[in-house]
Amino acid sequence: SPRTRVVLLGATGSIGENTLRVIAAHPDKLELVAIAARSNWQKLAAIAAEFRVPHVGLFDNDAYLSAKSSGAFAPGTKLVGGLSGLTELSRLPEADTVLVAVVGTTGLQPALAAIEAGKTLALASKEILVLAGKFVMAAAKKRGVKLFPVDSEHNAVFQCVEGHPAAGVSRIILTASGGAFRDWPAEKLSHVTPADALKHPNWSMGPKITVDSATLANKGLELIEAQQLFGLRADQCDAVIHPQSIVHCLVEFADGAMLAQLCPPSMTFPIQHALLHPHRAPGVDRPLDLKKLFSLEFRPIDETRFPMLALAKQTMRAGGIAPAIYNAANEVAVAAFLEEKIPFLAIPRIVEETLSKMPNTDPADLDTVLALDATARRTATDLLGGARTPSAL
Ligand code: NDP
Ligand code: MG
Repeated sequence: SPRTRVVLLGATGSIGENTLRVIAAHPDKLELVAIAARSNWQKLAAIAAEFRVPHVGLFDNDAYLSAKSSGAFAPGTKLVGGLSGLTELSRLPEADTVLVAVVGTTGLQPALAAIEAGKTLALASKEILVLAGKFVMAAAKKRGVKLFPVDSEHNAVFQCVEGHPAAGVSRIILTASGGAFRDWPAEKLSHVTPADALKHPNWSMGPKITVDSATLANKGLELIEAQQLFGLRADQCDAVIHPQSIVHCLVEFADGAMLAQLCPPSMTFPIQHALLHPHRAPGVDRPLDLKKLFSLEFRPIDETRFPMLALAKQTMRAGGIAPAIYNAANEVAVAAFLEEKIPFLAIPRIVEETLSKMPNTDPADLDTVLALDATARRTATDLLGGARTPSAL
């Protein structure tokens, strides 16, 4: 059978690296036809050389110009720049699947372009579904394209529900490792630094999502993502602490039976599933070894210690633009925390205040959603001043 031709947006990141490992392990099944990143053209040049990639995109214009004049790319390599360049890659006639793994919501337009062009979409960027899930899902349905979740919990849910009538699914439960501060008492959380938050117990990921794991905003975003992907009500989606990160989801059916998906905590499993579906093949990382002793624990999440989860649930119940405001304010607050401009506990405060300052509406078109997303980012940015850390003054 012919190889699946893959476009990889976010090739230099953590998901990008894991995707390259999967592609390298299946040269007979997968072929990389385009890669893109924001600015790291040096790393793109190395990837392009190793995988003989004919199309390369850079979001950042200066990086695009540097890449063009660098001589680091093989002659004949087609370089494109800006968001329009990324969107062009999504539509490449010689591509079958577009994997969007760009941090934040920048990948929205490229994802929609991929759908319109009839490509299979593999989606890692959960923020896109939180911002505009209604529109992305409607577009995919209308165009009849396949959409595979790459986020491990959602990929796990996909595997559990595939072949089951949707009406029979009563609840899905996503597992959470609990992040860097799972067992920390509330009073210690006021002093944590970005370095503390970036120490994730089980997963190695990019900085933004690692901080989101520490606040549990990541699980909040994932509940919203799950609601969009699987067409569920807010009360049908929940999360539970599972320190081992081996069970990635539990799906409860109407009769009370539950299915779970298990694999080691490595993103190569969901990435390979999304790229090879419906085929299965030996993976990059070793499967679970049941001869080794391990236990699986589950416990409820303390939402008073982790208000970002409670806020996410609140926005799910409210519906409309509220989840998008939550996401926008969180992106602004996390970036400020990583730059040591605000303390850790200011993240939920800024998100909560941004939500309370903006009326909830249910926009009928994407342009209005994007305008409100921009308003939420400005509102959150204005709140940063009042939340500065003493050391940043
Ligand atoms: P990283 O920070 O490791 O990498 C981000 C990637 O996005 C880099 O390739 C970066 O390029 C690129 N990028 C950033 N901004 C832009 C832009 N404006 N235009 C084009 N490319 C851009 O992030 P992760 O790989 O951890 O996460 C990527 C996405 O996947 C996120 O949405 C995250 O929520 C999701 N995800 C990640 C998981 C993980 O295990 N890491 C698990 C589940 C979901 P450059 O290097 O040039 O800056
Ligand atoms: Mg996840």
